[in-house]
Amino acid sequence: MKITQFIQRLFGFRKQKLSSEGASANPSEKMRKMMAMLSNTQDVELTCDEVFALLDQFTELAAQDEDVAQLMPLVQQHLDMCDDCREEYKVLQSILQGAV
Ligand SMILES: [Zn+2]
Repeated sequence: MKITQFIQRLFGFRKQKLSSEGASANPSEKMRKMMAMLSNTQDVELTCDEVFALLDQFTELAAQDEDVAQLMPLVQQHLDMCDDCREEYKVLQSILQGAV
């Protein structure tokens, strides 16, 4: 919810700057799409740094056949979207498998 509010504020701010009409304007199509996107995902999204920090743990749990999507849904969600982190995850997986 925090991020949503932040973006709302950000967009609201820009909008006011662009068009000096009252603040009662409807959200733009772009804005609505973005809000819909946000509400479809979790309230909070992790950054790459945060995912990197959790990735060891995530990889270990996954290797133990734990339901990581359930235990760490935000990490799973990020990996689904982010190629960089998915690559990192693959590397960690191969390291872990090599170490066993
Ligand atoms: Zn990432």
